[in-house]
Amino acid sequence: MDNVICPICNGPMTDSGYANYLSSIKIFTRVPVFYCNLCDLFSKILPPDLLQNHLNSAAYILPENEQTYYQKKIGFFNFITSLILRYKNHPRILDVGCSYGHLMMAAAEQGIDADGVEINDSFRERLKTKGFRVYKDLFEVSHRYDAITFIDSFFYFQNPLDVLRRCKDLLKEDGILLLRLTNRNWLARLRWTLFKRSDLSVLGDTTHSYSIKSISRSLNQTGFRIKDIHLFEKGRMKKIFHLLAYLLAIATFKQFVLTSGLIVVACREA
Ligand SMILES: [Zn+2]
Repeated sequence: MDNVICPICNGPMTDSGYANYLSSIKIFTRVPVFYCNLCDLFSKILPPDLLQNHLNSAAYILPENEQTYYQKKIGFFNFITSLILRYKNHPRILDVGCSYGHLMMAAAEQGIDADGVEINDSFRERLKTKGFRVYKDLFEVSHRYDAITFIDSFFYFQNPLDVLRRCKDLLKEDGILLLRLTNRNWLARLRWTLFKRSDLSVLGDTTHSYSIKSISRSLNQTGFRIKDIHLFEKGRMKKIFHLLAYLLAIATFKQFVLTSGLIVVACREA
């Protein structure tokens, strides 16, 4: 495969290996992975329909897993809600890729109006019966918001800059964008550079895998600027490694960010 173009800088990407990618329930397919050195972005090349099949097969889509996910994540969603409240009083929020709607529920508990975007039809219908407004597509949304959140969902979109530009249209003048991303590029780069590992499955199920550098470049290209990057993820740092990685990042003034996730808060460029 040649001529793979970086979705951020339009420069050529380098063939860097492959990843095993969930293609239907418990079935994995090998897909090629490319890298942009300028942006520090890893991208999987996904054939048509594969992303859709993936999203229909992931564990977090199965109704029988809802309670488990709720218990595992509700502390984290309460933390995200409190984070939004640090920036905005009485916000109206839009959660993109809202899945079971647990963040919307955590927000509603705090009296916050929360709408969602969810591609999965049955989730959408279920959330509507609970009284939530849920859109199928970001481009169908007709309101403006104080905060738009993407919790582990932004990295699925194949066209990140279009998504960010759309968010800019949907945010109020002083609105904020909150992106929770996985942070595994450093690990993939390490394995790839030191051990010549071409299996980059460590990147997880992202379409594009971001680091601070690649998300900064994406945001700058689309008229956003980063306000804060939060590395402490209350309710989600269950292992000692998570705490150590956080302490390392703080001790090195974010020179070594090996935390498992990044929470990026951005606002419109003045
Ligand atoms: Zn690039």
